[in-house]
Amino acid sequence: MFDIQHIRNQFPILDQSVNGKPLVYLDNAATSQKPLAVLNAWQKYYTEINANVHRGIHTLSQLATEEMELSRRKIQKFINAEHDFEVIFTRGTTEGINLLAYSLTAWLKKDDEIIISYLEHHSNIVPWQMLCERTGAKLKVIPIDSDGILQIDFVEKNLSEKTRLISVNHVSNALGVVNPVEEIIALARKNSDALIVIDGAQAAPHFKIDVQQLDCDFYVFSGHKMYAPMGTGILYGKEKILRELPPFHGGGEMIATCSFDKTTYADLPFKFEAGTPNVGGNIALGAAADFIESIGHQHLQNHENALLEYAQQKLLELDGLRIYGEKATRTGVVSFNLEGIGIASDVGMILNKIGIAVRTGHHCTQPIMAFFEIAGTVRASFAVYNTFEEIDILVEGVRKAQRMLS
Ligand code: PLP
Repeated sequence: MFDIQHIRNQFPILDQSVNGKPLVYLDNAATSQKPLAVLNAWQKYYTEINANVHRGIHTLSQLATEEMELSRRKIQKFINAEHDFEVIFTRGTTEGINLLAYSLTAWLKKDDEIIISYLEHHSNIVPWQMLCERTGAKLKVIPIDSDGILQIDFVEKNLSEKTRLISVNHVSNALGVVNPVEEIIALARKNSDALIVIDGAQAAPHFKIDVQQLDCDFYVFSGHKMYAPMGTGILYGKEKILRELPPFHGGGEMIATCSFDKTTYADLPFKFEAGTPNVGGNIALGAAADFIESIGHQHLQNHENALLEYAQQKLLELDGLRIYGEKATRTGVVSFNLEGIGIASDVGMILNKIGIAVRTGHHCTQPIMAFFEIAGTVRASFAVYNTFEEIDILVEGVRKAQRMLS
């Protein structure tokens, strides 16, 4: 049974007033709130266990190691990876992509091609541009149509032996569009030996990820958007490729032997986890995966899709409101502007005065904003604890902003 009040009770932060009004938190694509199970896992680590992992013989160090490795296995199950050592703990999506862009330097040479899409977050653009600068490779960008839908015939037309890498997001953070990554992967497998990276930052909080079924080479996401603490995340990679890739950071934990003549690297996953990890955060990330699974992916998805549909329908009742990506399959996000009101942040400020938290601006996706010839949008984004009443409050707030600003 899906019991929204039971779920909300697990998020004490929601039970507060902002500017004298009950908080309506609709900025979940930026970061979600954390349930008690996650906060408790984090607190338990710091109050009962705190010790460094992997290198201690004493009891607390062994406990910390066991808990963190248990969490790795929870994430393995969460994304259906074949092996737990294919799950690398990172600080988040940005670090995962930078790790890859650095470690894949030798995979590319001058005039090779990397395909990304128009819908990417800056963190799935800039690391690849930096890689192109280092290697002389070129970026190619899958275009979108006026609904923000990827034109994937571009992939078919542009795949060649030069295509060495494809990196696309599973769900767009600016529009919420769910991208046809399965089709892109199938095309790529048929026509190239490109490596495939999926940025799942906005997918992991919303639906079941199955990396084996997807058949991607790498999958990255951040913990903090899926109810886990900030500074957590994972990079999944297929064993064979991870074994061949050189490490990203050098330091403690990532070596097998170290001498001044020669250093050899540790086995997976530690080769990619130099330095002291975020042990408490990584343990709490496992608790976040448990939290999602305790609700059930199907329940969570049904609720969030119903919220999105309701929000879209109600918002479109307002004159002159445009939703970007309106006709695309979407999850978790409604991104809009009001006709004649050029500055999205003006709307955001009025909403904040009545307790509603939304994000305004370019959402770290300036190319999408340039495509639509706008400076930014108002983005309301949903999590499992949001309610239909909150959507009504949002719609009333937008109506008020429209009255005040026009
Ligand atoms: N990719 C997408 C699709 C995102 O939405 C975000 C964050 O909003 C990122 C990457 C970067 O995530 P982080 O800042 O957690 O590293």
